[in-house]
Amino acid sequence: MNSTSKPVRPPFVLGGPWRWLLPVLLVLLFLAVLFWLPWQARQMETTERQEQLIADTLWVEQTIRFELTRNEEALAALGAELAAGKLGGAALQARLATMLKLGHELEQVRWFDADARLLASSAEPGAQVLRAPARDAAEMARASRLGRYAEPYAGALPAQRLLDYHLPLFRDGRYLGSLVATVDLRILLDETVPWWFAQDNAISLLDRDDALLAKRAAAGPGRGVYTHKRALDLAGASVMLATDSVKSEPRLLPNLLVGSVVLLALGLVASLTALWRHIARRLAAEGALRQQMAFRTAMENSLVTGLRARDLEGRVTYVNPAFCQMVGLPPGELLGKTPPMPYWAPEAMAVYQQRFAAVLAGQATQQFETIFQRKDGVRVPVLIFEAPLVDSDGRHTGWMSSILDISDLKRVEELNRQQQEKLQASARLATMGEISSMLAHELNQPLAAIASYTTGALNVLGRARERGQAVDAGLLQPALEQASLQAQRAGQIIRSVHEFVKKREPQRQQIGIQALVEGIYALIELQALKFYVVLETHIAPDLPCVSADRMMLEQVLLNLTRNGIEAMQDIAPDRRLLRISATHEQGQVCVAVTDQGHGIAPEVAERLFSRFFSTKPEGMGMGLSVCRSAVEFHGGSLKHAANPDGGTIFSFSLPAQAAPLE
Ligand code: ADP
Repeated sequence: MNSTSKPVRPPFVLGGPWRWLLPVLLVLLFLAVLFWLPWQARQMETTERQEQLIADTLWVEQTIRFELTRNEEALAALGAELAAGKLGGAALQARLATMLKLGHELEQVRWFDADARLLASSAEPGAQVLRAPARDAAEMARASRLGRYAEPYAGALPAQRLLDYHLPLFRDGRYLGSLVATVDLRILLDETVPWWFAQDNAISLLDRDDALLAKRAAAGPGRGVYTHKRALDLAGASVMLATDSVKSEPRLLPNLLVGSVVLLALGLVASLTALWRHIARRLAAEGALRQQMAFRTAMENSLVTGLRARDLEGRVTYVNPAFCQMVGLPPGELLGKTPPMPYWAPEAMAVYQQRFAAVLAGQATQQFETIFQRKDGVRVPVLIFEAPLVDSDGRHTGWMSSILDISDLKRVEELNRQQQEKLQASARLATMGEISSMLAHELNQPLAAIASYTTGALNVLGRARERGQAVDAGLLQPALEQASLQAQRAGQIIRSVHEFVKKREPQRQQIGIQALVEGIYALIELQALKFYVVLETHIAPDLPCVSADRMMLEQVLLNLTRNGIEAMQDIAPDRRLLRISATHEQGQVCVAVTDQGHGIAPEVAERLFSRFFSTKPEGMGMGLSVCRSAVEFHGGSLKHAANPDGGTIFSFSLPAQAAPLE
């Protein structure tokens, strides 16, 4: 944390909608790959199935070819024997029967002579002559001297298609005729195609015009998705083997991979949306937080109260600009600092240390006054409020202080004090003004006495000179002593007046009330004389001292006695009695001035202590106000009450000191 007002610049990031560009592109790419993968897998599966079909078809074709070749070879062996003339009659029939038995697909085997007339047949009754297309095939076989197939043709049974194999027979180069083996193509398929292949595929044999010759479709017609067609390599006949798988194209959805990919993609989109929302919420919260921070910073910067936070070790963790200004130091010189702080005044170091020890012990004073030293050395009086810093988990992490610069307050207080002092001085002057006439009268007596003593002494001297006699020192001495005494008395009076009036700082000292009253008794007497008031004092013996400024207490007493005396000026002369008494009660020394004057009316009592309130024609109305502030200054209180014998009792009490003054 720091107190600088500049907002912290965030590191450079791709801003605005661009922020989303890269993640969105990546997600799109990821989705594309996710969808491409199963498609690719499907493609591969399709290719694989197709290849499998081709391989199987090849195998079937070879099986058919093998079967046909086997028949061809059996026929060739028979043909060789016939050509050699070794077979005939029943033996031939037996051989033909065996051939039919071994080759289930063989419908019949016949022997035709060179003129295409039937010589022998495995079936009874066989066709007696070769038909035209068959004869063509036989002719071609004869011409090429090799076995040869004829184009397939329809058999006697419905949907029966037959394929003839013509084997020409020669003896000594002479054409003997042809052996013709007839294959039933449907049976050929049934016999040669294994069941497992027929289970998955529709197998058909087609002629050169793609017309169906034979078909095996155990598991229904093919779907036309995976097909293969290849020619059976038969000399003289074009027969195609066509396979058509009953399997359809691999479906996309049941595919486990596709399912998981779709699920994954959906999950991804859902979590992305959730993430997107979360980020949007976070951004909004961050925005609100930034605004709040800006608001808080502005608030802290505008504060005139200094703020300072410290951790539990007393390390400064935060200061606001007002605090920096107060101590004249930048935040950099304050943050992280531990005591002694750079703003501690050397003269108050002990107090700071003591208070810091209390803070470390977890007992910070909640509110106190102290002084800070600014960088330029100026002392700043401050009022500090301490409060514990508690984090969001409720843990006590340090202390927060708010600091008020009370220089102005102190200045006003000082000004007030000076004004009060001036007022008191003025009040003293006023009091003296009133008694100055009496003072003149009082001084008159010693001066007149001095004058008469010195005149008497001069007369003694004059007479001695006239008579030419020596001066009698015994005559002069008493007169001069009296004159000196009177002069001392006059000087005493003038000194006390001077002391009373001069401006001075209050000085507390141990004061005994007895001595206090005695010190100003002459002045009180002067007041009393004017109105022929009788004075009475009752000071309790062993009265403890009070700690006070003598002059201020003298003034309080003089004001109270003057008011009491003046209150009795219209009272019958025999009741004009003023009593000054002092007692000790519950640790307090109580001084009372009791008169038997006119008393205080309730409306007067209300405003008694207000400044400039007076019921007297020439009164200033300052006396009681000054008295009260002087008594309160000493930690006491000034009260008044009605005197049961008529008149008023003004009293004040001050905290008693331990021992009475010797
Ligand atoms: P001042 O004496 O100049 O009038 P003070 O403040 O001393 O001013 O007194 C204010 C007023 O209180 C007086 O004018 C008077 O009416 C009243 N007062 C003070 N002391 C007494 C007293 N002992 N008895 C009756 N009235 C009093």
